[in-house]
Amino acid sequence: MNWESSKPTPEAIYARVFEELRPRTPLPEIRVDFRRYANANAQIRLESGALIVRIADTLAGAPEDVQEALAWILLSKLFRKPIPPAANDRYRRYLNRRDVRKNLDLVRQARGRKQVEAPKGQHFDLDILFEELNFRYFFGLMARPTLGWSPRVSRTLLGHYDPSHNTIVLSKILDARNTPRLAVEYVLFHEMLHLRYPVEHNGARRCVHTRAFKDAEKAFEGLREAKALLRRL
Ligand SMILES: [Zn+2]
Repeated sequence: MNWESSKPTPEAIYARVFEELRPRTPLPEIRVDFRRYANANAQIRLESGALIVRIADTLAGAPEDVQEALAWILLSKLFRKPIPPAANDRYRRYLNRRDVRKNLDLVRQARGRKQVEAPKGQHFDLDILFEELNFRYFFGLMARPTLGWSPRVSRTLLGHYDPSHNTIVLSKILDARNTPRLAVEYVLFHEMLHLRYPVEHNGARRCVHTRAFKDAEKAFEGLREAKALLRRL
């Protein structure tokens, strides 16, 4: 027995939550592994009677109440029960903590390799579009992040800005002959605003499109038309 820690093992935490959720079900064998994921990920499944939990090692140092909150979330999902709001809130608050986010960013940077294709596509060159938008809307003052096309064609995620890799990625679906240039410019402009106006974290809440963001977006010439074009894509 490890005598310096009176802390319960992760297995004991899952056993405790399991017994509360399923008081009449015999306790299965429980295995909790911490894995080298690039994100704060966790998975749970029942496999031949054993409960297998895999958690990103970035969460290994989380306080006991956070581990327990995660256990509630995972086990509730597994048994299709509503997640207790307090558990959700506690876990989110932890992930939103400045030091925790900072650490996750560092881990992501070190481990995750960003999958993007070169900025010069078949029909649009993102580096050139960026500099034009930079000149027109940002006085040419925005430092150019890494720009690239997504390796996969996504219709639902047309663009995103990844702060941990300082990369703007646009969906390759936009790099097509029949995509109007205005539509591509708008998606890129929107992501440039994400670079300019970082996500605000406020306790458990996360605001991606802040008031300042939305105001700045109105400056885009042809905003309505661009949005309409994207809807028809
Ligand atoms: Zn956005």
